[in-house]
Amino acid sequence: MTDSFVQVALDVPLHREFAYRLSTGSVRPGERVLVPFGPRRLSGIVLAVTADAGDFAGKVRDVLAVPGDMPALPAEVLALCRFVADYYHHPLGEVLAAAIPVVFRGTAAFVAPEPDCHFSAPDLPALLASLSPRAHAQRAVAELLAGSPGQAELRARHPQALRWVRTWQAAGLVTASLTPVPAASLLVGAQPELNDEQQQAVTALCDARGFAAFLLFGITGSGKTEVYLRAIAAQLAAGRQVLVLVPEINLTPQLEGRFRARFPATTIASLHSGLSDRQRALNWLAAANGEAGIVLGTRLSVFTPVPQLGLIIIDEEHDPSYKQQEGVRYSARDVAVYRARKAGVPVVLGSATPSLETWQNAVTRRYTLLTLRRRAIAGAGLPSIRLLPVKKIRSADGLHPLAQEAIQRALSAGQQALIFINRRGYAPVLACTECGWMASCRHCAARLVLHLNERRLRCHHCGYEEAITPVCPDCGNHDLQAVGHGTQRLEDIVASQFPQARVLRIDRDSTRRKGELDAALQQVHEGEADILVGTQMLAKGHDFARLSCVVVLNADTSLYSMDFRAEERLFALLTQVAGRAGRHGQGGEVLIQTLFEDHPFYAQLLDGDYARLAQRLLAERQQLRLPPAVAWAMLRAEAPQAERVAAFLAAARACFPLLRGLTVHEPVAASMTRRAGQERMQVLIAADTRAVLHAALHAAMPQIDALPASQIRWILDVDPLEV
Ligand code: ADP
Ligand code: ZN
Ligand code: ZN
Repeated sequence: MTDSFVQVALDVPLHREFAYRLSTGSVRPGERVLVPFGPRRLSGIVLAVTADAGDFAGKVRDVLAVPGDMPALPAEVLALCRFVADYYHHPLGEVLAAAIPVVFRGTAAFVAPEPDCHFSAPDLPALLASLSPRAHAQRAVAELLAGSPGQAELRARHPQALRWVRTWQAAGLVTASLTPVPAASLLVGAQPELNDEQQQAVTALCDARGFAAFLLFGITGSGKTEVYLRAIAAQLAAGRQVLVLVPEINLTPQLEGRFRARFPATTIASLHSGLSDRQRALNWLAAANGEAGIVLGTRLSVFTPVPQLGLIIIDEEHDPSYKQQEGVRYSARDVAVYRARKAGVPVVLGSATPSLETWQNAVTRRYTLLTLRRRAIAGAGLPSIRLLPVKKIRSADGLHPLAQEAIQRALSAGQQALIFINRRGYAPVLACTECGWMASCRHCAARLVLHLNERRLRCHHCGYEEAITPVCPDCGNHDLQAVGHGTQRLEDIVASQFPQARVLRIDRDSTRRKGELDAALQQVHEGEADILVGTQMLAKGHDFARLSCVVVLNADTSLYSMDFRAEERLFALLTQVAGRAGRHGQGGEVLIQTLFEDHPFYAQLLDGDYARLAQRLLAERQQLRLPPAVAWAMLRAEAPQAERVAAFLAAARACFPLLRGLTVHEPVAASMTRRAGQERMQVLIAADTRAVLHAALHAAMPQIDALPASQIRWILDVDPLEV
């Protein structure tokens, strides 16, 4: 028997493949193999099986093993990863490694456990009502379903338990899932009658044949999710699978709950970093073998094999978290659109505040615009927004008197209030009242944030922390003062201003441990909190039925920042936060405390006219030659010494060819000049078109890769979101 050879992509930072000899057995492209690499053993993905080693220059060694635990990646996914490697100029082996579950990246074979199934009853009272009052054993098993038990747990309760549960499942009273779902997260609700705009959107999505891109532009609470649900139902009925991308893992459980309640008989594979590696692998396998009708996940799930793919949904498409910020810096949104095009299926991007990139595609008719102008629930208007100028407010108070009154109004009406401030900790600055010294991180060009509860000063960029200094290190003054507000300080202020109210703070610090966030959200839903103090975490997606008042603090410091996306982002953020109020027809009030009440931004925000803002911003971008009018890439580098970084970037800059429509800027300091002890600089590569940008990168990158770069860490960021 003649040997065959395999070309393998390995998880190493090299832009090349490696050949190995396969002396026994067989493999297919897309499968994983274990191979020797220097003194190490590595897992790699087979790209091709060939009759000879080709022009592979090294000594050809043998494949060590074919674990056979991962189904071969389909050609479609391999091609997608190739596209990503090419577009973002990143080694294919690293892209592939990132695309598959962790358990398939190592050298140990993954042994899939007997698949367990968890059961829950979306409407437990209905299930109990369907059982005879005397069927005590059955009733006991049914009650167990409140805790989303697994198979073993059910069997332990009663030998017949599993059989009963399956019968109830067939009757639509019980849903099965790969992960436990607390019954409380299943929102049961009858399928509402669609309004005209929703119906038009659903019809457009269901009529699409082949690739078509849609922008579902709908204000918060306009029923975008309901449109997704109907489009999904049509796909499931046709035996196809749907890939649903969401920006945040925090949002997956509630969306999953809604999907489960609507599609009790469908397997939903969720994929996000909150799952254990094992669970994630099992869900991935359920997607890959076609069992899961719905694949629901954060950005990484865009690479999941979905053999019967019929539709891709990108919820909150404007969200910056779709862009990976380390390793392969891909945009899951852009990759998803590319995937839909290649797979010949429709893709829908949903948002109340679309990214300007997507808006431009809609304006130029590359995407079909579907608009939802009204809130879906009868009587639920958009909340009224008011600005509260705070220049004259004593900063120690935090809240404007009118904001305090509004909160009081909400509480008196039995409603909840949300105070949004995008900064955790007690105060962003600890300063000396004598000499003006401020506590700074010794590794970053950044201030330390005061965390009073823990009595620590912390850097939110590198994690450095120290005890609070009692005296000013510069002048010895004992009077150090907390300047500005963070969530902890606001929690204190609010608690003293509203002594009767139950105040709940929700931020990264209060939800660090597993389950804490869920528990907090549960408290909100059950009305066990009156005033919520929180960050971004609370801004997005949540549907709090009792929330009628939202107060926003210090959100607009970015308006005069260097970031040209500041307005677009702030509009999205404030729309999201404001969109939490009055969703259930109780009327809503949104108060924004601002230093810049005259900024033109606010006129458009108060009009709620995103289309107008987008039009103005697009015109500005065109005039100033900023994305999306032009295409950008950013070459970022860092090292302990600034001179080294500058020298490296100067050499890198010289690698670019002279092309018409291409500008490669001088190296400049990054907006955060030092982080974790590294001096940071960057080179902006700007081009009139994507084609010119990529021609330039293709010419330059191999040379840049070959530059001496000892102690330099550098990366290329194509279509950067951060400047
Ligand atoms: P979005 O995703 O646009 O924020 P949702 O789909 O979450 O909006 O809908 C907001 C609320 O309106 C939900 O409680 C949903 O059940 C309800 N809803 C959606 N469509 C309708 C409709 N056609 N009639 C009545 N209620 C609806
Ligand atoms: Zn001092
Ligand atoms: Zn730091």
